[in-house]
Amino acid sequence: MENNRELPKFAVLQLSGCSGCEVSLLNSDEWIDNVNLVYMPLVVSSNKIPDDVEVLLVSGGVRTDEDIHNLRKGRSRARRLIAVGTCALSGGVAQIRDDHPAREAFLRSSHRLRLPDMLPHAYPLDRFVPIDLYLPGCPPTPELFITALTQAEDAKIASIVCQECGRKKLQDMRPASITGMRSGVTLPDICLINQGYFCVGTSTRGGCGALCTRPGHACVGCRGPANPYLYREPAFVQDNLRKVFRRMTDIPEAEINEALDSPWLSLFLDQFTDYTQDESLPLRTKDKFI
Ligand code: SF4
Ligand code: SF4
Repeated sequence: MENNRELPKFAVLQLSGCSGCEVSLLNSDEWIDNVNLVYMPLVVSSNKIPDDVEVLLVSGGVRTDEDIHNLRKGRSRARRLIAVGTCALSGGVAQIRDDHPAREAFLRSSHRLRLPDMLPHAYPLDRFVPIDLYLPGCPPTPELFITALTQAEDAKIASIVCQECGRKKLQDMRPASITGMRSGVTLPDICLINQGYFCVGTSTRGGCGALCTRPGHACVGCRGPANPYLYREPAFVQDNLRKVFRRMTDIPEAEINEALDSPWLSLFLDQFTDYTQDESLPLRTKDKFI
């Protein structure tokens, strides 16, 4: 797309739905060269719909107050809005509650004896069945998928992201405060921690090729804990990170703690990395992890 500036701006907003409409759109490439795709969270990393969008596609129904907010904001920034798919036109599956007639119809169907009941939590798979291979990531990179499917036995995965990052940790460059959490202006080749960014690559399993840190975005830990932390509770991982930041920086403890509690790190450090398990279950052994 060489003439991006001259092409009409095109954005895709997803409300409560399943991404099926986006996948269907992506199954055709005929539109790609005719528009400047400025926003589509599934494939474009931009986090804001620009003000002067020519066409905004909206998929999914309005199920949360955030959906209302995003829809109104999107509408105010687009010349034309196209509602796409069943959910955008009728609410779709996200509106089917206990008392919905469709639920009753499903129950009456000869193929459907009952509809699923919600469990109190979402559980990991190995609470219910044995697992042969674990592929952590949010999401795992395509290369990791291929490794899991073709050469899992011989895979050599870097133990932590730092091993793949290539940025050098310096002794004499000690930031006194946090410059940024995820991105900003960075120097090449020097560890992001030395530059005041809150990178958690020291505790995070490698294998992603340091996708974020090489171009200058701090790692948020989406690959989950490195082997030494596999069976440890989130607080242990956080303590380890505190030690790293104490050793490499002069950032006050309160600022470090605030960063550890930030939403984008909590997502992975407090929740996704809680690999501690019910002791009655078999341990996830590290040889089963890619
Ligand atoms: S930038 Fe992050 S991943 Fe890279 S060496 Fe520093 S701590 Fe490790
Ligand atoms: S957040 Fe960290 S683990 Fe996840 S892809 Fe980026 S560098 Fe890799």
